[in-house]
Amino acid sequence: MVMLRDLLISKDLFEEIRKKALESDGENNSSEEIELLEKAVFNKLKKKRSVKKYKKLGVTKADLKEIIELADIVGLDVLGGPSNYELAHDHQEWCTICGRCCRESESIFIHRDEMNILLTLNPQLKDGIVPNKEYSGHFELKDIRPCKYIHPETNRCAIYDSRPQVCRSYPLVLVESNGKTRNIINLRHSCNYSVMLILEKSIILFDEALKRLENG
Ligand code: SF4
Ligand code: SF4
Repeated sequence: MVMLRDLLISKDLFEEIRKKALESDGENNSSEEIELLEKAVFNKLKKKRSVKKYKKLGVTKADLKEIIELADIVGLDVLGGPSNYELAHDHQEWCTICGRCCRESESIFIHRDEMNILLTLNPQLKDGIVPNKEYSGHFELKDIRPCKYIHPETNRCAIYDSRPQVCRSYPLVLVESNGKTRNIINLRHSCNYSVMLILEKSIILFDEALKRLENG
């Protein structure tokens, strides 16, 4: 039986991309988090789109889950759609300013190239930056979980206009593989921005797959 996802990408190519994503995204996206995030996306999808309509077209729950998984690991730009960066940039309203990313991150990474500008703009950071434990030559913020720059009530960042690049990009994370850099989504079920990005990507993929299904 042809699965809906097979109309978008061949099984072999999907498996290859999935393997690579697990290798390069693994440390950002754990399997338990991905499972929880996919559940959250599925629940939002049921509210947003009529699953009955999908069923009428012969689309199963397994199809829906497979498309969500595809949305986790591919940037839509490979299929002619918007990149993760473009989607995130166009939908900043999906960030609910809940502050979890500033309270729960394991590390706030600072690239060695941004150190000077960061310290020029925020001289008070001088004692708040330490060498990065994992990436030699780079740095990280001291005193996190929570980050000391988050306001306890408003969740606003005290150095918002000159915050580190990694904070600006969240929930996107820049990863490097085979000499190329790309933006992946930090898949966190507790981050509305991340859940909405995967939902939006899934819907774009469903629509494309259904169009192909209907056109035979
Ligand atoms: S990026 Fe996500 S976790 Fe961070 S404040 Fe926005 S919704 Fe919350
Ligand atoms: S520097 Fe600002 S944006 Fe970055 S983690 Fe701290 S409070 Fe959040």
